[in-house]
Amino acid sequence: MEAFICASCGELGITAGSHRLWCHRSYKAKWPLRALLCCFASIAAQNDIYEWCRDHRAHHKFTDTDADPHNIKRGFFFAHIGWLMCKKHPDVAKRGKSLYLGDLWADPIVRFHRRLYVPMSLFFCYILPITIPVWYWGESKWNSFFIAGVLKYCYNLNITFLVNSAAHTFGSQPYNKYIMPRENAFVSFLAHGEGWHNYHHVFPWDYSTSELGYTLNFTKAFIDFMAWIGQAYDLKSAHPQMVKSRKVMTGDGSRMKQLGEKEQLFLCSQSYAP
Ligand SMILES: [Zn+2]
Ligand SMILES: [Zn+2]
Repeated sequence: MEAFICASCGELGITAGSHRLWCHRSYKAKWPLRALLCCFASIAAQNDIYEWCRDHRAHHKFTDTDADPHNIKRGFFFAHIGWLMCKKHPDVAKRGKSLYLGDLWADPIVRFHRRLYVPMSLFFCYILPITIPVWYWGESKWNSFFIAGVLKYCYNLNITFLVNSAAHTFGSQPYNKYIMPRENAFVSFLAHGEGWHNYHHVFPWDYSTSELGYTLNFTKAFIDFMAWIGQAYDLKSAHPQMVKSRKVMTGDGSRMKQLGEKEQLFLCSQSYAP
């Protein structure tokens, strides 16, 4: 249970922190929340925030091309974990130079995390989760090491990897059928809402990464709670009318049932008006 709670916190560090806050700026956070998310991101230990955001911004800007660090067109395994095992394609570095990262470097918490990434990751990913069960309820050291340390870390890593592999392979494309990212409920369940990936690639600034409310989206609930206690603010969302128009213009028709026939006709006439 302790390992599962730790894994969930690590997941939030990536989803609510590195991804939706720092990488996409889909909401703003006061420093106590940013500090908490920085510690959570250290539990996940998936590179420091700056590097994580650099790779992810490249993924969005150059989706499904050689400049995308985990380009799904190079295969499921490559997008899942293979990209971390081989040299990056030259286009990643070459075209990656055009990315703007100044906003990340301006945040002292991001700079702090980059400088202290290794000791922070060792402490939050291994030392703390392993020590708590041993000290407080007498768990054996090896059990604690393998479950709260190794298993939790592998679980966290693979969930994030599934967003790059499974959520770019399996599922529908209600918002843009011309790109690879998909709507994948299973990945969303595991990754606290990150599996609504077709929507996310079309509206990356939307803090909820979905139009489905809290459906399989624990990260949205977390951010809304933080907004309620005053730690998160300026939450950005795509306008419902804009979402509907995108479905009509470029979607695969899979989430059109919510739209009435009249509304579809109206949106079509709006979309293609000269
Ligand atoms: Zn993606
Ligand atoms: Zn993203």
